[in-house]
Amino acid sequence: DEAASEGLRWKAYDPAKLADAEWKLSLLGQLDSAIDSGEIWVAYQPQIELATGAICGAEALVRWSHPEKGQVSPMEFVLAAEQHNRIDKLTAFVLGDALRAAADFAAQGLAFDIAVNMSARLLEKPGLVAMVQNLLADSGLSAERLTLEVTESAAMDSGRASIRTLEEIGSLGINVSIDDYGTGFSTLEYFKKIPATEVKIDRSFVQSIDRSASDRVMVRSTIELAHSLGRSVVAEGVETPEILNELIALGCDKAQGYLIGRPMKLTDLANLMRDQPAVRAA
Ligand code: C2E
Ligand code: MG
Ligand code: MG
Ligand code: MG
Repeated sequence: DEAASEGLRWKAYDPAKLADAEWKLSLLGQLDSAIDSGEIWVAYQPQIELATGAICGAEALVRWSHPEKGQVSPMEFVLAAEQHNRIDKLTAFVLGDALRAAADFAAQGLAFDIAVNMSARLLEKPGLVAMVQNLLADSGLSAERLTLEVTESAAMDSGRASIRTLEEIGSLGINVSIDDYGTGFSTLEYFKKIPATEVKIDRSFVQSIDRSASDRVMVRSTIELAHSLGRSVVAEGVETPEILNELIALGCDKAQGYLIGRPMKLTDLANLMRDQPAVRAA
């Protein structure tokens, strides 16, 4: 009817939306030069092994320090890059940086694993496995030290081609982690379908295990399910010692969060690892 179509027209010309679209396009236009100039860089957030408390690796998180806009969230520009088919170069840049960093730690005799976020869009593209293989070979890092994180919802939506890509990645010895676990429609069927080595529990559950009985049940049963299927578990968003202790009691394998360390420059991570005992390679 009239009112509804009026509403639709208003939506289509929403000035805030238009400004947002223009902003996204301008970001995309600057993407390549921002990578080349170093405005776009990679932060590393440490992960610890709960059994020992030692740093065992890190997640690579992309950052854009924009000269005019300040810190632009990856939520904004990664999504824009995905939507406009520009995610390849960004991913190759982050992966390359992360692999070099991990290879450097490995050369120092440290057992250090690196996790890199992988856009679901890329899983559908035929060139991904070759790109990962090439960058891995360039770095000299062994495949077992690399984990690719795929969000739960993305993995759920993905079709046969994406599952096959994940299987191929797995057959190379690379680990696959299900990121933001718990936010999608987690089912047993899904657990069976996605060839993952690790489950990463979303911080929305982790952050309330000391207050919400149902979230604690959710985390406990995820850990039990994952372990019975031979998968390891990482908790993200650990901000307090109480939650860390709860996770240890629940038998979680690894943790990541502001309590342990914020995403930081590689040099800061290297310093942190110098001060804190890191796991030595066997
Ligand atoms: P994610 O992969 O789930 O990463 C975890 C996010 O939680 C990061 O936000 C991290 O800074 C934040 N975080 C870590 N510990 C805590 C904590 O204790 N408390 C709270 N409140 N937050 C914590 P960030 O860096 O803003 O990244 C947001 C998302 O952007 C990531 O979520 C990931 O999905 C995406 N992203 C980041 N870098 C890349 C990338 O290189 N490629 C792709 N495809 N996506 C990326
Ligand atoms: Mg992640
Ligand atoms: Mg996550
Ligand atoms: Mg998340």
